Amino acid sequence: MVVCAMIKDLYREQVRSRVIPLLAYWSEQLQVPVPPYSVRDSKTRWGSCSAKGRLNFSLRCQVLDEQQLSYIVLHEMAHLLVFNHSAVFHALLYKHMPTYKIVQKSIFSLQRKSQLCL
Ligand SMILES: [Zn+2]
Repeated sequence: MVVCAMIKDLYREQVRSRVIPLLAYWSEQLQVPVPPYSVRDSKTRWGSCSAKGRLNFSLRCQVLDEQQLSYIVLHEMAHLLVFNHSAVFHALLYKHMPTYKIVQKSIFSLQRKSQLCL
């Protein structure tokens, strides 16, 4: 259990340092200010966006490669512009990452692998 907590802390720090440049990048691309965010011990979601525009990322994002993590950040930041999963939202994702559906599929397959300390 102690080791598990240490791994979580490590993952949290690593995800934080990887997310920072991606937030800056997508903020420029989408032309929205960098939002407040946190990295949490979420098991069921890679990321989320609150109604107040605060983003959360799971520390389990550490299993994602750069493109996959970039997609998660893009997805959550796009919610700052479109707060649903409508066609408009998907068009926005496509505009900024034309391969997003393939990337999304590759992330789904990592769901089980990402679970720590079951
Ligand atoms: Zn979403």
